[in-house]
Amino acid sequence: MRVIEIIHTIAKMQSYADQSRGKGNIIVFVPTMGYLHAGHLSLMQEGLKHGDDLVVSIFINPTQFGPGEDLDAYPRDLERDIELVRKEGTKALFTPEAKEIYGSHYQTYVALDKLPDHLCGISRPIHFRGVATVVAKLFNIVKPHIAVFGQKDYQQLIVIRQMVKDLNFDINIIGAPIVREPDGIAMSSRNSYLTPRQRICALSLYESLLNARRLVESGEKDAVKIIAAASDLIKSHPETTIDYIAVCDSETLDEVQIIEQPVLMALAVKVGTTRLIDNMILKP
Ligand code: AMP
Repeated sequence: MRVIEIIHTIAKMQSYADQSRGKGNIIVFVPTMGYLHAGHLSLMQEGLKHGDDLVVSIFINPTQFGPGEDLDAYPRDLERDIELVRKEGTKALFTPEAKEIYGSHYQTYVALDKLPDHLCGISRPIHFRGVATVVAKLFNIVKPHIAVFGQKDYQQLIVIRQMVKDLNFDINIIGAPIVREPDGIAMSSRNSYLTPRQRICALSLYESLLNARRLVESGEKDAVKIIAAASDLIKSHPETTIDYIAVCDSETLDEVQIIEQPVLMALAVKVGTTRLIDNMILKP
């Protein structure tokens, strides 16, 4: 049976990292909020291709949730998660309490200038400040050589890449593809909130992306038309409320009007009260 160290304190995690580095290991890090699914596990499998000491964190980070969001309701099952990460070959699981990470009188945040002004950052104005802050802290605690993030949270991935570049973290960031259920819906811990009826409506996110891909591949260049088609498709399902549907530059996230090179199509839709996101690169 594989042995896994469960670590709750910053001091222990840092000393684990120092020892591992001292042995010459390459530390690969996969940060998560837990309630793991095959999407998370794929990041771990990808990570192990690049390093030998896989460290996973499970931390539901309060600073990335706005008022009225699902911080308290966020699904949790630590026992099950421990089994899953152990089977993937994780050597250490870092799962601190919020008070360990933020203590009292916390004051320092990492905020990016431009990337958070797009997509999810518009309806979640403090979200990426919370994400960048916690990831910077986790990088200083876990001391990885490599960290793996999912393209499912595309904006998060490029926010982290930008932060690593701007703040000179000596860490290689790897982006891993979106893992989907057999019917195409992007795996998410939040899918567990959906009723069976809502789950059918939630499929419209992926269907609208596939439809957009077909349109672009058959020569449609007008982003407005592509967004309108996606919007019509999603709105034809009950209980859906569109937060945004965007066609944008995959590096700056600036809106694109005429599609002449690969672009990112990203969307966020509430199904009932559950906010879901998905994205796809569209290639003309
Ligand atoms: P979370 O636990 O939602 O904070 O996600 C932790 C990491 O898993 C992030 O890098 C996510 O982008 C990634 N992730 C979540 N869902 C998926 C998925 N369906 N496919 C690939 N990566 C995912």
